[in-house]
Amino acid sequence: MRGFIYTRATDADTALGAVAHNAEAKFIGGGTNLVDLMRENVERPNEVVDINGLPFAEIKELPDGGLRLGALARNSHTANHPLVRERYPVLAQALLSAASPQLRNMATNAGNLLQRTRCYYFYDTTAPCNKRQPGSGCGALDGYNRLHAVLGTSPQCIATHPSDMAVALAALDAVVQVQGPNGARSIPMSEFHRLPGDTPERDTNLSHEDLITAIDLPALPWVRNSLYLKVRDRPSFAFALVSVAGALELADSRIQNVRLALGGVAHKPWRAHRAEEILTGAPATPELFRRAAEAELQAAVGFEHNTFKIELATRTLVRALTTLTERSFA
Ligand code: SF4
Repeated sequence: MRGFIYTRATDADTALGAVAHNAEAKFIGGGTNLVDLMRENVERPNEVVDINGLPFAEIKELPDGGLRLGALARNSHTANHPLVRERYPVLAQALLSAASPQLRNMATNAGNLLQRTRCYYFYDTTAPCNKRQPGSGCGALDGYNRLHAVLGTSPQCIATHPSDMAVALAALDAVVQVQGPNGARSIPMSEFHRLPGDTPERDTNLSHEDLITAIDLPALPWVRNSLYLKVRDRPSFAFALVSVAGALELADSRIQNVRLALGGVAHKPWRAHRAEEILTGAPATPELFRRAAEAELQAAVGFEHNTFKIELATRTLVRALTTLTERSFA
């Protein structure tokens, strides 16, 4: 591990100033991913700016009925907050499906969104990886790619984003609040993470100096009928092979509102807009669910070890919609 300076920020301006003056500095919150990456020499900041003393840990209601999740609120606190559990069960379930209780007690909401891919080659500093070292190649393309993406890939990178929380936030149309050198701004979840394209080293549309302060959930009373389905190799402490964040509202057996997002299939949470279009306004039937899921996965392309994800994602979408429909009639 490379030596580094430790700076403790007491307010947002101090934190932003420290990072603005040093292109190799990094913010640190819970550190559950960054410290691992530093130990492996994947991340090599020369300074870490501790932001745990900043006042961004609160979860509070917004005037319009939405909810503001502080950037530094811990994942366990967020998952167990009564208003999150009652109004946004998909988010509580996604958080509780991730990592271990010990990690959830440390990991922050902002850090969850900023965690890096778990592609094996990204962590192996002897392997080529365009995300870790632009221009070096992609070890996964012709390597072992069982965990990798089937949607939105590029010849530069086929990694997946590992966050479960981000998939739920994509389905909920959450908004990330950011403070940067030019003041505060809001980034919709749909624009927060990026597809790899020619710049796989960039996971998000944040700049180096940007500091996440909160994540806002819109007021959506109907998403109380929501769920997070995660398919993985073992029942705990494993990343998703495929996951679905879903919410559904029926009116006279027709689909009034639906939200769907997929995890484990792309470089960013994959909002299933195509499926949503097909489903909205139509009678809720198993045939329709299958047709919508197949349409969403139509553009998917598998690699040597992960083609199974295409059918798995299709079936997981159908299962999520079926479960949500049954719950509507319960
Ligand atoms: Fe690196 Fe992306 Fe290729 Fe993995 S898939 S080796 S992260 S470039």
